[in-house]
Amino acid sequence: MRVVVLGAGVIGVTAAYYLNQAGHDVTVIDRQDGPGLETSFANGGQISASHAAPWAAPDVPFLMLKWLGRSDAPLLYHWRLDWRQWTWSLRFLMNCLAPRARRNTEDNMRISLYSRGLLPDIRSDTGIEYDLETRGILQIYENQNDLEAAARHGEWLGQLGCKSEVLNKEQCIQLDSALEACADKLIGGIYTKDDESGDAYKFTANLAGICAARGVTFRYGETIEALRTQHGKIESVRTDGGNYSGDAFLMSLGSYSPLILRPLGINLPVFPTKGYSVTIPIGSGNGAPSVSLTDEENKLVYSRLGDRLRIAGTAEFSGYDTNLEERRANSILAKARQRFPSAGDFDKAEFWTALRPLTPDGMPVIGATKYDNLFMNTGHGTLGWTMCAGSGKAISDLISGAAPEIDIAAYSLDRF
Ligand SMILES: Cc1cc2nc3c(=O)[nH]c(=O)nc-3n(C[C@H](O)[C@H](O)[C@H](O)COP(=O)(O)OP(=O)(O)OC[C@H]3O[C@@H](n4cnc5c(N)ncnc54)[C@H](O)[C@@H]3O)c2cc1C
Repeated sequence: MRVVVLGAGVIGVTAAYYLNQAGHDVTVIDRQDGPGLETSFANGGQISASHAAPWAAPDVPFLMLKWLGRSDAPLLYHWRLDWRQWTWSLRFLMNCLAPRARRNTEDNMRISLYSRGLLPDIRSDTGIEYDLETRGILQIYENQNDLEAAARHGEWLGQLGCKSEVLNKEQCIQLDSALEACADKLIGGIYTKDDESGDAYKFTANLAGICAARGVTFRYGETIEALRTQHGKIESVRTDGGNYSGDAFLMSLGSYSPLILRPLGINLPVFPTKGYSVTIPIGSGNGAPSVSLTDEENKLVYSRLGDRLRIAGTAEFSGYDTNLEERRANSILAKARQRFPSAGDFDKAEFWTALRPLTPDGMPVIGATKYDNLFMNTGHGTLGWTMCAGSGKAISDLISGAAPEIDIAAYSLDRF
């Protein structure tokens, strides 16, 4: 089959890899000059099944109220006259109900574990390099109650297949001596040794290169304008550079997916959620953590990517605004400097911001649509890097007419 993949982020490229492996003639289209240049460019780097719980959780409405009015709040909600944002937010609140949040976590866990388990196969098939670290992810805590709650949550995640252990302060420091720098505040952590980290951009760019060498066509610098339909099927994609026909079409435009789907009568509740990252060169500084960390107090993640340290986090609901506010980025930098003063050269920090394609239940949208040959692989929100391999394999199987290896019914567009 001729399959046209819309979008060359980590999601589109990984799907293209599996579609090529399945024997299809694959074309990937992206408006940027290369792969992975939007939301997949400088994310937190974590392959974190341990973070499968969606943002929509019972304690989140309370936290949002607590953070109201704080300009450095981990989550900023801009009240806008946009009915789509209001409808999305209502659905988000509904998903904060405990039973729903539990079910969403279980479903996210299934694809996260599947995905994490596929990455070694991609590595051995391709020899791909992307500053991989396999030292696990450690969530660190400053507050005993929070640590105890996290330990209970970790126990439940263990029953779902994501094993972790509770570490006291000394064990945390033994695991990563960089934590000595913040030992006065640290009380312990939850360690998931099978989680990983790596540079999602390097992965996307290198995998795209490998796919191109294996026969996948990449059309960069072309903006997709519309999908043309005929007799209940997608007939072609119109870009500012031409038309592309195909037998099947895969939607992987991240936060921009709903804009192209709307004229087709498909309402995809993916809302852009802005996040920031800061990357510093480690240089001769030997105080940078090498185990990937989640700082639960500041809601930030740390990943060592070769000779760089990436710190990422924050969420802002401000529509499609991609403006980088120095104040927000500087606040991340200041928190990182406070935690790990000798982690690297903070004066050479690189700031970045992008939009997470977030659904109100925090789960991706993977599966078929009302158009026979149009498929979805989008809306991965906070976990696109974690889920890229699992989603790519599952959607490739579905497009190929094979049964996916995991149950993907929960990720269907029909749930909305
Ligand atoms: C601050 C931050 C930290 C994060 N940390 C992590 C983490 O630690 N672990 C994790 O698992 N996930 C993390 N994520 C989430 C992850 O980065 C995303 O889920 C993932 O990158 C989404 O990939 P995507 O391919 O769907 O979107 P994108 O990478 O945005 O790809 C979509 C592509 O579509 C193209 N496009 C859009 N519209 C058009 C058009 N009209 N025509 C042509 N091309 C178009 C874009 O150019 C882009 O290349 C983080 C995100 C942020 C913002």
